Amino acid sequence: MSNKTCCLLFIVSAPSGTGKTTVVERLVRVTDRLKLSRSYTSRAPRGDEADGVDYNFVSRAKFEDMIENGEFLEYADVFGNLYGTHAGDTTRCLESGDDVVLVIDVQGARKVRTTGLPHVAIFVLPPSYDVLEKRLRGRSKDSDAAIRQRLDVAREEVAMFEQYDYVVINDQLELCVERIKAIVLAERSKQQCMRAKALEILRTFQR
Ligand code: 5GP
Repeated sequence: MSNKTCCLLFIVSAPSGTGKTTVVERLVRVTDRLKLSRSYTSRAPRGDEADGVDYNFVSRAKFEDMIENGEFLEYADVFGNLYGTHAGDTTRCLESGDDVVLVIDVQGARKVRTTGLPHVAIFVLPPSYDVLEKRLRGRSKDSDAAIRQRLDVAREEVAMFEQYDYVVINDQLELCVERIKAIVLAERSKQQCMRAKALEILRTFQR
């Protein structure tokens, strides 16, 4: 019996400092057939970030060429840098039979919505403004002005939760991962997703 089911595209958005990258990296480790999409960005690598691992790091000129060539499923300017999801990479991954998760900002999520591409959108919220501020200050890799800018943007972003299918609060890392994994598993069990497999089973009932 084939394992073929439909392939799902998940989007995870959250304000900077919510811990979405850690959450999603852990999610893909504990969930089979779920791959994390690697974005392109024009920003420089930070700390021990590596090209082809954390992001595909490209120059701004190269990124703009890729926009011109229509290579992105979506892209956005986030805090002055360009970030984008490569359409071809996403399609290839989905065609290989895996589900794909994009960790993208609210502008990118809006763009994917306008393409009409079926997807499941999940918004991760911090437990409160104060907790988010503490987390951003705790990371201490940004200047005070940059932290204040991130908090201002976060105020606008949290209001977007209504445009998402699911909302998950990152109050505890493991719990947050479990909740998102539960969403992935539930989406995979939807009737339309299970249809091909179910019909295959039904055929075994035919005389
Ligand atoms: P950072 O520079 O901290 O890694 O990411 C900054 C922001 O860019 C985060 O909100 C992250 O989700 C978002 N981001 C990362 N990759 C993409 C992408 O491919 N598209 C969009 N629209 N946003 C992205």
